Amino acid sequence: MNALSAKTIEFIGHPKKMLINGRWEPSVSGKTFPVTNPATGEIIAHAAEGDKADIDKAVKAARAALEGKGWSTMTPSERGKLVWRIGDLILKYADELAELEALDNGKPFTVARAADVALAADIFHYMAGWATKLHGLTIPISVSGGDFHSYTRLEPVGVVGQIIPWNFPLLMAAWKLSPALTTGCTVVLKVAEETPLSAIRLGEILQEAGLPDGVVNIITGFGETAGAALAAHPMVDKIAFTGSTEVGRLIVNAASGNLKKVTLELGGKSPNIVLKDADLDVAIPGAANAIFFNHGQCCVAGSRLYVEHEIFDEVAEGIADLANQIKLGNGLDSQTEMGPLVSSAQLNRVCGYLDSGYQEGAKALCGGKKREGAGYFVEPTVLVDASQQMKIVREEIFGPVVVAMPFKEVDDQLIQQANDSIYGLAAGVWTRDVSKAHKMAHQLKAGTVWVNCYNVFDAALPFGGYKQSGWGREMGAAVLAHYTESKAITINIG
Ligand code: NAD
Repeated sequence: MNALSAKTIEFIGHPKKMLINGRWEPSVSGKTFPVTNPATGEIIAHAAEGDKADIDKAVKAARAALEGKGWSTMTPSERGKLVWRIGDLILKYADELAELEALDNGKPFTVARAADVALAADIFHYMAGWATKLHGLTIPISVSGGDFHSYTRLEPVGVVGQIIPWNFPLLMAAWKLSPALTTGCTVVLKVAEETPLSAIRLGEILQEAGLPDGVVNIITGFGETAGAALAAHPMVDKIAFTGSTEVGRLIVNAASGNLKKVTLELGGKSPNIVLKDADLDVAIPGAANAIFFNHGQCCVAGSRLYVEHEIFDEVAEGIADLANQIKLGNGLDSQTEMGPLVSSAQLNRVCGYLDSGYQEGAKALCGGKKREGAGYFVEPTVLVDASQQMKIVREEIFGPVVVAMPFKEVDDQLIQQANDSIYGLAAGVWTRDVSKAHKMAHQLKAGTVWVNCYNVFDAALPFGGYKQSGWGREMGAAVLAHYTESKAITINIG
């Protein structure tokens, strides 16, 4: 096991406070809550338990920062440089941030360093370039009897409430904050109660980068109190949420009071389809990565695996072999390939799904249960003998559990089966036939389709869901529309 760095020991050694108006503050109630290491179940720190009163302070600070001087008068070029600097500082503190993710979320340090932290820096660098390229249009209009000059301006949508989950704590904060800052919005960020540490460290980084006070406020606390207060707050103009579809619905209801803009990144039950002409040397490890990356705690996890019947056994057993080789352990151990689930609640939830699968007749080809001992570990699992109507095929498990099912041929029935879900976040296709690949990519109802690859993310690509997987898109140029208002201005020049 790698020893914790002195920096991390010092960081977790003090009660963690919340960033409000440029100051680190305890909660108004004085309450704190424990933060645990999911690999051991031990308490590693205490965070401030923010609730309605703290949200109110933070929203007022964000409103003042939006309307005051400093942030609103910063030139696009200055804003772009500041956003770029945040990306640079994330890279500077990459080891420290990865260590916090391993400690707090349980994911392997090496994965956090290579994926979470690198992608978090990348989205700030990508977004920084947009700061100087957000412009409106000059539009000729056809109103008769006058002479008009019309143009549009893109203005920040205003104070944005952002609520993020625990599966990629730093990266989700980066996906949310980077477009908000690039477009000149101000933010109240409510981080997940399971994993508050890296976002608190990110708050220190934002200050070091020179972000004016109140532009980003970071609240730690629970969903039903702090999250709900943010979603309902009348001085918040937009809410951006990532998490469960169930809570997504609550957000929409809460946001309806002042009809704030809403974007949602919700759950998934993504189909991953392997055709018999696929290169199985690529498809088998690819399908394993599609489900086991981040312990299956990915909204895009390729959790419904459809395999052409002639190669079904080879593919299912191939993934099971790889699953058996995955080394489970503490995220801080350099040998670890898969850490624990994030919490005992998630452990119980995933084991509940396994039980339901067995009751409905599914069998585990490998894994299939909790690992005994300390920590919230579940063995990587391939379930077979499943059918489309089973709960394990219809609902998001959010753990290292793939359900593999054979199909007869590539036809409309296969596509219909793949699309037979309330979700539509991602899909995978493995084939050497380029025409089939394109055709299926067009037919699949998902915001992202990967062909002969999976989990390929880039800051330049829009990401989001069809159906109940969400509203709107994150990343790419597409996200900027959700953080700006387009104002049409018409001048009578007659
Ligand atoms: P969740 O939706 O309950 O929590 C996500 C965030 O929403 C957290 O910050 C939480 O505090 C907040 N929240 C919870 N209730 C709220 C409310 N009433 N109002 C405002 N904010 C609220 O997710 P979870 O409980 O952490 O996980 C449950 C399931 O959600 C998972 O098993 C998985 O299916 C799904 N999930 C999806 C994603 C994703 O990236 N799409 C991420 C995490 C979890």
